[in-house]
Amino acid sequence: MSNTIQSVRGMNDCLPDTAETWQAFEAIVRDWLRRYGYRELRTPILEQTGLFKRAIGEVTDIVEKEMYTFVDELNGESLTLRPEGTASAVRAAIQHNLLYDGGKRLWYAGPMFRHERPQKGRYRQFHQIGVEALGFAGPDIDAELIAMTADLWRALGIAPTLQLNTLGDADARQRHRARLIAHYEQHADALDEDARRRLHSNPLRILDSKNPAMAPVNAAAPRLMDELDGAARTHFDGVRRLLDSCGIAYEINPRLVRGLDYYNRTVFEWVTDQLGAQGTVCAGGRYDGLVEQLGGKPAPAAGFAMGIERLLALMEAAGTVCAMPGPDAYVVYAGEAAEAHAWRVAAALRAAGLAAVLHAGGGSFKSQMKKADASRARFAVIIGDDEAAAGQVSLKPLRDTGEQMRVETDRAIDVLKQACIQQG
Ligand code: ATP
Ligand code: MG
Repeated sequence: MSNTIQSVRGMNDCLPDTAETWQAFEAIVRDWLRRYGYRELRTPILEQTGLFKRAIGEVTDIVEKEMYTFVDELNGESLTLRPEGTASAVRAAIQHNLLYDGGKRLWYAGPMFRHERPQKGRYRQFHQIGVEALGFAGPDIDAELIAMTADLWRALGIAPTLQLNTLGDADARQRHRARLIAHYEQHADALDEDARRRLHSNPLRILDSKNPAMAPVNAAAPRLMDELDGAARTHFDGVRRLLDSCGIAYEINPRLVRGLDYYNRTVFEWVTDQLGAQGTVCAGGRYDGLVEQLGGKPAPAAGFAMGIERLLALMEAAGTVCAMPGPDAYVVYAGEAAEAHAWRVAAALRAAGLAAVLHAGGGSFKSQMKKADASRARFAVIIGDDEAAAGQVSLKPLRDTGEQMRVETDRAIDVLKQACIQQG
């Protein structure tokens, strides 16, 4: 293997078996988004570096150390492979004036890139589905975003738990910031290198530390929750009331601050203890300042993003990933007359909406039947000289019991369709 080229570390191929699982997952997700009235937005994978610096914040893990940034040699522009989707969604909404006639419910899906240490559930190219509700100020939209994810978990057969917090508004965060700095200064010895560096630039970020040694000093830190102003408190109460009325359980986690700078008020994470350290499968919240910060007319906003790899891992742990079925038919044939007939039969099956693999490469019936079995097809459609002369096919069930039978092509289509329906 030494001189073969491998994929880039932390960036994975998605082979056909896995790709089919992804397709099934994506079909559920797309239908779920449609039912909630969210519409897809597709943006480029490359953006100007300045977009992420402004949106995510200079003193964040992503901007400080995780971005794939390079200079476009042709014009000297600094470009970055998108590490997340919200900045691009907001940029596009501003650029195309999407909010001119009111709020918009949007979603996006695709690869994101972060230069992290690869491990289970943490990759350098990973995939997110993100949902953004732009232009809505009320707590109802925060609750809708959370409730719709709860609905999706039911459809996927998984049960992560919900952590909820509020980051309040700017004044409260300013007061909290001063208290936090004072607290950490008093415990300067307990701070790790990241924390010391962030103490004066972005102390809130220290709460987000993944270093277990920081846990005690973080647990004792002053809580933003205790600084809330009236409007933010009322908003948070509104979110909680709606969640309570939908029967959605949550745990208030006053340490939950999220790794990006743009959040205010409601923040939430769906977490699980079944995926080791990479336990957050979905995270989001409100980011009312971002549209204006990126140069748009002020507009409130809220959203979330979920990691597809982690959700699929959780589904696997829950045993709810279903293997995709093989094709409906594998057509085997021998002889020149049989070949032309086999092509016609395969075309007729496909025109009827069935998945038909036509054997390629010749060989004996025996070796062709081995391929048919390996293809996981439900039926082998066998065409020899006799069948070709009679314009018929022999149908042999490969997955279920049952006799081989010789029938007209139309009858074969009926039988295959019936089998498809039973399979569901
Ligand atoms: P973490 O704390 O695990 O680093 P994060 O706060 O950086 O996550 P977000 O930016 O909120 O993550 O991204 C939303 C979701 O995307 C995460 O909850 C997770 O499911 C997924 N995700 C983030 N980074 C990665 C990664 N490197 N590999 C796989 N999934 C990821
Ligand atoms: Mg991260």
